[in-house]
Amino acid sequence: MTAPLIDPFARAISYLRVSVTDRCDFRCTYCMSEHMTFLPKAELLTLEELDRLCSAFIRLGVEKLRVTGGEPLVRRGIMTFFRAMSRHLQSGALKELTLTTNGSQLAKYAKELADCGVRRVNVSLDTLDPAKFAEVTRWGRLPQVMEGIRAAKAAGLKVKINGVALKGFNEDELFRLAEWCAAEGQDLTFIEVMPMGDMGNDYRIDQYWPLKDLRERLAERFTLIDLTDRTGGPARYVRLAETGQRIGFITPLTHNFCESCNRVRLTCTGELYMCLGQEDRADLRKPLRTSTDDAQLEVAIREAITRKPKGHDFDYSRQTVAGQMPRHMSHTGG
Ligand code: SAM
Ligand code: SF4
Repeated sequence: MTAPLIDPFARAISYLRVSVTDRCDFRCTYCMSEHMTFLPKAELLTLEELDRLCSAFIRLGVEKLRVTGGEPLVRRGIMTFFRAMSRHLQSGALKELTLTTNGSQLAKYAKELADCGVRRVNVSLDTLDPAKFAEVTRWGRLPQVMEGIRAAKAAGLKVKINGVALKGFNEDELFRLAEWCAAEGQDLTFIEVMPMGDMGNDYRIDQYWPLKDLRERLAERFTLIDLTDRTGGPARYVRLAETGQRIGFITPLTHNFCESCNRVRLTCTGELYMCLGQEDRADLRKPLRTSTDDAQLEVAIREAITRKPKGHDFDYSRQTVAGQMPRHMSHTGG
């Protein structure tokens, strides 16, 4: 039996998030600049390499795989990869195959994703107002995403909505978003904006809407019941007594969730980040390309896991963005 991946703090690594592309058909203001330079194709792992790498992690005990990006569904041939991963669902080695998407291509792919064994999708949506949606995503159009969400449901996929909490932008839509998700039977998770990329610190602090404040606002209208359930991710959940729905909060900056971190992140170039908030990473592309045998790759993965840190360093508290990470979320895969 292959020994599972356990880090120095006795956390078993069972969750891999894999970014399959740095490209995207949107340009969300908090994620990318409008004129992004993307990586040359040769830098990207091929679909076959992604398959080998993810399969190695699954052999080493990863049970949950989340595909992300950039926008995962704009990667050419991506369904070949989902098909390849579905064999691990069939064997029982993989318990869950899922993705985070902006929803723009769901109308096209929802059925095929469901056929590959995907049961749930996270769709990122920060506003229900078409004009504001176009403003924040720059290139996105709300009706297309709404159509994608409908297609996902029609295909039997469970949809969860992820919204970035943005001060002065979607504060006024809090109840509307919650009520819409309740009516649609969708869980809703809010994410605190993180200091990623080189978008300027003032901009970040300006838009920073602490989820503590968001939560208090929510409690003005709803009765919040704290839930202890975790989904293997960093979100904490409450149930709204009035609607019965779950609302999640991902607060990487104000709440320490590192102690239960079971995840690592793989970039589309084969770099493994052991922590979202730290720069340390391991190059897995090299062992992947040096040998067709996976032995070197497994050694490199194990070595990387021994370097998984206890926690990250984000800190907004002094009104400067201490611990700011220079890379974009679209690179590491949010
Ligand atoms: N394109 C897909 C999407 O938007 O769902 C997947 C990749 S995107 C980088 C993953 C998530 O990261 C999205 O929910 C997005 O809102 C979030 N995100 C991007 N930049 C962020 C930032 N600076 N702070 C917090 N969340 C961010
Ligand atoms: Fe694209 Fe997702 Fe980043 Fe928006 S958040 S620009 S949809 S990768």
